[in-house]
Formats: sequence, structure tokens, C-alpha cells
Amino acid sequence: MEREQGATLTHIVVLPYPLQGHINPMLKFSKRLATKGLKVTLLTPKSIVESMKGQATSVTFEPIDDDDDSGELIAAETMEAYDERFKAIFSHGLGGLIEKNKSYGYATKLVVYDCILPWAVDIAKQHGIGAAPFLTQSCTIAAIYYNLYQERFTLPLQEPEVLLPSLPLLRMDDMPSFISQPASYPFILRVCLEMFHNFHEVNWAFCNSFDKLEEEVVSWISSQWPIKNIGPTIPSMYLDKRWKDDKNYDLSLFKPSVDACMKWLDSKDTGTVVYVSFGSMAALGEEQMEELALGLKRSNRYFLWVVRESETKKLPTKFIEETTERSLVVTWCPQLEVLSHKAVGCFMTHCGWNSTLEALSLGVPMVVMPQWSDQATNSKCVMDVWKVGIRVKVDNKGMVTREEIELCINEVMGEKRKEMKRNALKWKKLATEALDEGGSSDKNIEEFVAKIVQI
Ligand code: UDP
Repeated sequence: MEREQGATLTHIVVLPYPLQGHINPMLKFSKRLATKGLKVTLLTPKSIVESMKGQATSVTFEPIDDDDDSGELIAAETMEAYDERFKAIFSHGLGGLIEKNKSYGYATKLVVYDCILPWAVDIAKQHGIGAAPFLTQSCTIAAIYYNLYQERFTLPLQEPEVLLPSLPLLRMDDMPSFISQPASYPFILRVCLEMFHNFHEVNWAFCNSFDKLEEEVVSWISSQWPIKNIGPTIPSMYLDKRWKDDKNYDLSLFKPSVDACMKWLDSKDTGTVVYVSFGSMAALGEEQMEELALGLKRSNRYFLWVVRESETKKLPTKFIEETTERSLVVTWCPQLEVLSHKAVGCFMTHCGWNSTLEALSLGVPMVVMPQWSDQATNSKCVMDVWKVGIRVKVDNKGMVTREEIELCINEVMGEKRKEMKRNALKWKKLATEALDEGGSSDKNIEEFVAKIVQI
């Protein structure tokens, strides 16, 4: 009772970076905190709050005017300019919200911020409260960047392979792209390193992963800073099933073709469909898109392919008509429902962290074709550490050929399927246990709540 009273008076403010893959996990975490009795407010651009209208949620949204007449999120020419504007608008919004809550008698106890927004720590400090980063990528990725931050290796990489504490031997092409190609996005690399500047000041660093998935690396990071895995942040009804109304992500920045996908999958036999998606951002070159299309066609399997609106023009002419008997191409789908459908035999993915965790947690083997950022490292783990997928090979022109795509799909759907499915189901079980009552992620959340209510 005492804890409940303390909890309802305990207010947390959550600040995600406004991208689908960042908001979803932070919103799910917020909902888990709300189920434990905390009051949680999520600070997001007005345009995003508007897209969520009608979604029942236990979390309060604080819309921030994104200052753009078109209603679009803060437009800016470059990433740096966008970041500057975002910081200016949101640091003001964050400070305002903390003050507003105080005047309503809901004193904010902590700001949970997306780790790529480290300035939130300063704003929290100015208002006399603490802050905790939320890492939207894996612990492995955090450990790689942290080792670079601590100068255990330097760039450009001097050796073809790097061995770091608690990590598998990493080749150049297993590294995050901002490290293997440091000149590609120097600004993002800087952001990935600068986030550690104030880690020594925080009491918690939440990560969307679970302990058993990255056991050794979690243990190593714990000796450096206070990591708390609280994932996978997948709706409860897919895993622990403790919260009956938690069935989806509440937020979709694209409109999914739900009925078309589910009806089509319902008409297929168990394990016969290849589900293909490269997430919300990846944009393949035209030639690569053609190789992928023709690889899918050559595999002679059923495939459900998400080709975002902006990418459809890259499809080979007449591709849809020519493959219509075997395929369904949509601009967005309900990915969790698709991955958990019995007809899906494998997932061909860019290996974004959310997609990777979803496939692992829903027991689906993968063909992985990483594009940038953390995806190459996730692919390395999928293939060599978790053993639930195959990574396509890139030829000497930087292309993944149609033959390679056909080969990998047929391996994962064919001779390797049984073993990979068995491994994937093991991860599904461990993910469920982590979230269930008394599991490692649940315990981390419980312990956090017990401490924060007493501050
Ligand atoms: N997703 C979806 N429908 C689709 C494709 C993707 O709902 O048709 C969701 C997917 O479930 C995941 C997110 O979009 O939660 C993609 O995140 P990820 O980190 O995998 O990739 P990103 O979009 O950040 O590159």
C-alpha cells in the first residue's frame, strides 16, 4: 500500500528521439512503468501525438509544437541543423514540463532520455532532478562505442579484426557502419560517442535488450556503468501476456495494410512464406532493389514484401504482375502480427535492432542483409552468436546478387531451417522469461520503481 501511494505520486518524464524505432521501445517501457503505478509523461512532437489519436494508453503525452506550418516535424537541411533545432525546442519543452508538473503537485523525479540526447541531463540538473539514458540499440553496440570512446581502439581501424572485452572477434564489416566507414556520417559517430560524456553521473542506463541474450557483454558493461536491461520492449500479449490490453506498439508512422496481409497469410501453409522488410528508413539503390526482386522471384517461394511508398518506383517493371501468384507487396504491414503468423517461415531483414529483437522474440529465423548503422553488428550476432540466421554475402561491386539472395533464402527455408527454428524458439522462451514476473527485465524494472518512489 505504501509503495502504491508512493508510486502514484512518482512522476517520470520520458524523452525519445522522434523516430519510429526510438519512440516504440521507449513508449513500451513507459507503459510497463505505468503498470507498476508510476505516472509517466512522454514528450514528443505534436505531429506524432496527433497520429496517435484514439489509442488508449496509460501514458500521458505532452505535445511539443514542432514549429513548422506544414505540420511536418521540424524540417532542416542537415542532420546537424535538425539536431540544433530539436535541442532548442525540446530543451525548452522539457524544462517547461518539469515546471508545469511541479505547479500541479506532480514533481518530476527523473527524466528518462534517449541516449542520443545527452543534453537532457543538463536540463534535468538545472531543475534539481536526475536523468537516466535509454539505449535503443543492443548492449553489444553500446560496448563497441564505449570501447572506442575509451580509446581501446582508434579510427580508421588499423587491423582487419578487433578483439574487445566480452565481444566476439569483430571484422571490419561486422562493425557499425559509422566505425567501419568513419567518413560516412562523422556527425552521427560523434553523437554515438558523446552520449557517454555524462554516463558517470547517472544511476541507471536502461537498454532494450535482455540479460540472457547478451550475457557476457552485460556483465562487462555492468563493471563500467549501471546498465539495466528492460527488454525486449515488445507488447506484452506477444510474450509474457500479463497486460491484456498491450497488443501493439500504439504508434505507427505509416499506415499498415492489416486485412490484406492477414488474409493472404491465412491462405498459406505453415512455414511457407518469406517475409521481407527493410524497416522505416533503409533505401536500397535501384540496381540492388532489382537484384532483391529477382532473387525473391527465383527462390520460387511465397513472399510478403514491404516496399515503402517512396521505394515502389524502384521495383522492376511488371514485377508485381509477374509474381502476383506467389507474392503480396504492401507499403507497410503490422510486423508483429506478420512475424507471429504460422505461415511465415523466415524473415529477410535489414537487421534493425527492433526487427531483430522481434524476430528473436517471436521465434523466426532470418536472412539478414544489413544496410548501415548497427545492422552489420546485429547481423554478426544473428548468424554467429545467436545462430538464428544467415547473412548474405556482398560481391566485389558492393552488390548482393539475385543468386546469393535465392541461395540464402533457400538455405534458411530448407536444410538449415530446423536447427535455426529450434534456436529461435529458445530465444523466444528466454525473452518471455525475462519479461515475466521475476524475470531479469521485470526485476530490473521492479527494483528501479522501488528506488525511484523513495527519492
Ligand atoms: N515495422 C512495421 N511494419 C513494417 C515494417 C516495420 O510495423 O511494415 C516496424 C517493426 O515492427 C519495427 C520497426 O518498424 O518495430 C522498425 O524498426 P527497426 O529498428 O527494425 O528498423 P528502422 O526502421 O529503425 O530502420
